[in-house]
Amino acid sequence: MIASVLVEIKSKQTDKVFYYNIPSDLKKKIMVGIRVIVPFGNRKLEGFVLEMLNDNQIKADFDLKDIIDIVDNEPVLNEEMLKLGRYISKKTLSTLISSYQTMLPSALKAHKGFNVNKKFITYIKLVDKDYMPKNISQEKIIKLLKEKEVQKKECSAISNYSLKKLIEQKVVEEIKKEVYRINDDIEINKFRNKLTDDQINVIDSIEIDKFKPYLLHGVTGSGKTEIYMNLIEKIISKGKEAIVLVPEISLTPQLVDTFKKRFGKKIAILHSRLSAGEKYDEWRKIEKKEVLIAIGARSAIFAPFTNIGVVIIDEEHSATYKQENAPRYSAIDVAIYRARNHNCPIILGSATPSIESYTRSITGTYKLLELKNRINNFNSEVILIDMKDEIRKGNFILSDLLKENINLCLQKKEQIIILLNRRGFSTIISCKNCGHVDKCPNCDIPLIYHKTTNSMKCHYCNYIKPKLIKCPKCNVEDLNNFGMGTEKLEEYIKEMFKESKVIRMDVDSTSRKGSHEKIINDFKNHKYDILIGTQMIAKGLDFPNVTLVGVVNADSSLNIPDFRSAERTFQLLNQVSGRAGRGQLQGKVIMQGFNMDHYSIIAASKNDYKSFYNQEMVIRKKLKYPPYYNLCLISISSKEYEEVFNESNKINQYIRNNIYNQNIVLG
Ligand code: ADP
Ligand code: ZN
Repeated sequence: MIASVLVEIKSKQTDKVFYYNIPSDLKKKIMVGIRVIVPFGNRKLEGFVLEMLNDNQIKADFDLKDIIDIVDNEPVLNEEMLKLGRYISKKTLSTLISSYQTMLPSALKAHKGFNVNKKFITYIKLVDKDYMPKNISQEKIIKLLKEKEVQKKECSAISNYSLKKLIEQKVVEEIKKEVYRINDDIEINKFRNKLTDDQINVIDSIEIDKFKPYLLHGVTGSGKTEIYMNLIEKIISKGKEAIVLVPEISLTPQLVDTFKKRFGKKIAILHSRLSAGEKYDEWRKIEKKEVLIAIGARSAIFAPFTNIGVVIIDEEHSATYKQENAPRYSAIDVAIYRARNHNCPIILGSATPSIESYTRSITGTYKLLELKNRINNFNSEVILIDMKDEIRKGNFILSDLLKENINLCLQKKEQIIILLNRRGFSTIISCKNCGHVDKCPNCDIPLIYHKTTNSMKCHYCNYIKPKLIKCPKCNVEDLNNFGMGTEKLEEYIKEMFKESKVIRMDVDSTSRKGSHEKIINDFKNHKYDILIGTQMIAKGLDFPNVTLVGVVNADSSLNIPDFRSAERTFQLLNQVSGRAGRGQLQGKVIMQGFNMDHYSIIAASKNDYKSFYNQEMVIRKKLKYPPYYNLCLISISSKEYEEVFNESNKINQYIRNNIYNQNIVLG
């Protein structure tokens, strides 16, 4: 017998399949999908067995080498996974090996020298029940063991020496038991909300034994999570499994918590902050069918279930579902592929669906389900403040109205969230006087200031012009971008509202494991009055006592050079407004900025998705952006400038000569 083995050779970005002879002692153990160790030159490599062939199927003019050994006793890739890898590799133009490696937790990738062990605890069991103890410690140990097996450390705490002797004399024996690294005891919450008519309608229109993608468009707080859990209950009662994707586990602790309380130990949680060992354990719980639900970020879509009954993707518009390094797969595409395979529904949920998904729900690719009202029927009042007027009054950071309302809230002992969405570098030049931002004449996105060349550049088409000296609109020579980060805002607010307790949540304040959860819990328990943060705080958090949300620089994300910046702004503002008035109290949202008449901000303030969608689609069409056009990025990199320059030119020429006229090449 011969096996074809796929190995990864780091220096070459190509797939390598090699043929090896299966030695007779391994014949029974080797099967498709298993990892094996093979000789390669004078090295040993790990690889995946892709095919088993008869000797006469391969005609080599040299003798094939033997497989050295197996890595696992069971295949790490089942048939569906093997097929899925080929699909991903084809769809994303990446190697098959990189697809398989991405699909597996690091403990199961084909990597030589990387070992994650199962965790064992050693127990001691009494074998010779008639043994007469020789001393007091022996007596103590045996007395303990007469009742039940106990952990070894309990016995050795009495006397390590006596324990050793007892083991030697075969009076007691050691037993190793595998334990999972994560094994919380969870208290199940039996309480069930009575579903609203809207929720029942949605659930009833989902066919559970049939492949179909659904887009669940429901405003924040409309009870989508409850719908997910209901569907899952239905599915698992039929013995099937469910995958739930969330943008990032650490940002959605409350959803995870709700799920845990409903489903207890039936859940495996996969996320990036787990150690390799923890991930390996969670993976095996799924594989052994000890759990029926997997919740996790993007890569949880590869959970090795074999009888999936539903795939749920919460916050489907989130950019995190697309992997930005090879293989550049979209978890939504993979989810659709798997749902089709398992003939089950896939639910894409969001309060602000991506423009592309919503378009698919209009054209019928997805079936649209809607929840139009919040469960508590409160809609926050949203007020927009133009900071140009405030600056004239000397308010550079907070408007009068926001300050007043913060004070009011503090007096009433209610809580406040303040969002300052300052991401990355803010090197966009804007006019301090009129708010004008200089944009690219081709692409209509803001130009980025480059200090080294003292010029302004479009990051899409490379349009370039010298740095502005005065505002082209109002002629004022005051063109600094006043960038302000969350830390500075925190300082300012602490100074301004001396009596209040303030906490900040951003990438810097949450780098330690568990710090997210701590900030969220502390805020929920009202240890703090004001929570300041970046877009991190906008997602899925449910604080009943928050009645005021302030957004500083609400328009700043419009200046991010991306054709999706209006969409992202709408999503962010819509989400953050959903944070106010979650409980029994009416909420208020105050957004301030310089371009407050932008359609994305106005639509967000009215919680009007459709109006935003319609206006955005006009622009997408005019500027030839998705979903009207598909974009393809070709990026070329090298340490040698000349080389990149020449290659780019060649590629450019080739493409221009070979595409259809209606296609557009930028750059
Ligand atoms: P979404 O996921 O759409 O933002 P959630 O599912 O989190 O909304 O629901 C918002 C709040 O309403 C939660 O506190 C939830 O417990 C509550 N809720 C959901 N469904 C019901 C219901 N049928 N009756 C009462 N409360 C509900
Ligand atoms: Zn100006």
